Amino acid sequence: MRAAIFHGPGVLGIEDVPEGVAGPGEVAVEVRAAATCGTDLKSYRRGHPKLFPQLPARFGHEFAGVVTAVGDGVTRFRPGMRVVAANTAPCGRCWACTLGRQSLCENLEFLNGAFAEQVVIPRAIVETNTYELPDSLSFDAAAPLEPLATVVHGIDESGIRLGDTVVVHGAGPIGLTFVRLAVLRGASVVSVDQSAWRLEQAVAAGASATVDVADLPDADSRVRAILAATPGGRGADVGIEAVGLPAVWEQAVRTLRPGATAVLFGGTPAGAMFSIDSSAMHYQELSVKGVFHHTPRHVQAAVALLASGSFDGESLITEARGLDQLVPSLEDMAAGRGSKYVLRP
Ligand SMILES: [Zn+2]
Ligand SMILES: [Zn+2]
Repeated sequence: MRAAIFHGPGVLGIEDVPEGVAGPGEVAVEVRAAATCGTDLKSYRRGHPKLFPQLPARFGHEFAGVVTAVGDGVTRFRPGMRVVAANTAPCGRCWACTLGRQSLCENLEFLNGAFAEQVVIPRAIVETNTYELPDSLSFDAAAPLEPLATVVHGIDESGIRLGDTVVVHGAGPIGLTFVRLAVLRGASVVSVDQSAWRLEQAVAAGASATVDVADLPDADSRVRAILAATPGGRGADVGIEAVGLPAVWEQAVRTLRPGATAVLFGGTPAGAMFSIDSSAMHYQELSVKGVFHHTPRHVQAAVALLASGSFDGESLITEARGLDQLVPSLEDMAAGRGSKYVLRP
């Protein structure tokens, strides 16, 4: 079968490999839709020691498909079922899992290999984070389950209340998902980005106001423009950073009202630092939270949002393409021509 194989930064190709076999507790799936993600682009460009400790490796982690075989002991799934799975499972035994902080699990089991005609879901993910799709849900819509689950986690940590004004910094797939879920949570959302094309999508996702910072030269002018879009110019009740740049982390904190919360969601390079006015943090009682990944509860909630139609996974997809379009699709994402592609092996 054909599968994407990652050899190291910049070296990624579609190759012929043997099909996987479902071992005990595992499920083999014919992939019908596999979505590209910012993490794929990052990994392709610079490598990713945590996701790819050994090379060469299979590539891709957002997918939906049809079960072709199940290993010994699997009872919840059978051949022919349409399924979706998250990209990891927590161990359930380490200190973090014991505290209910499974996103921090020390032994997260990862799945790589969604960009392929077939993928085998590891036992831990079968047991914890794999779901049958309702007939009403398309493979394309279900494939971005993982980013949706992480955003459900971010929303959970945000404490958004009915009537809040939420500023979402960044309108890529993650930012757009935050816009949609914050609206579902009863907030008015201000979307901030530097691309008019992405801000149009934010309005379609439910943003009631937008701030285009493309022509604002410096941090101070950007902060002023964002504050002006909030009630009384006071700032956001909740600010969400969905870009992954320290300068935008600072922008998210500087545009909060007193007593507000910032959810700093976009991953930055290792060693990157950002600054907070500590006096403002004290006298304005600001809360600043980092949020990473998801837990099984967030995955379950994400599946429910997809199944009910509350969240339309297809709205995130720029275009559907063939598997051989993987690298061109990552290049298109890097160039800002699209934000998320579904590949249909
Ligand atoms: Zn992803
Ligand atoms: Zn654990």
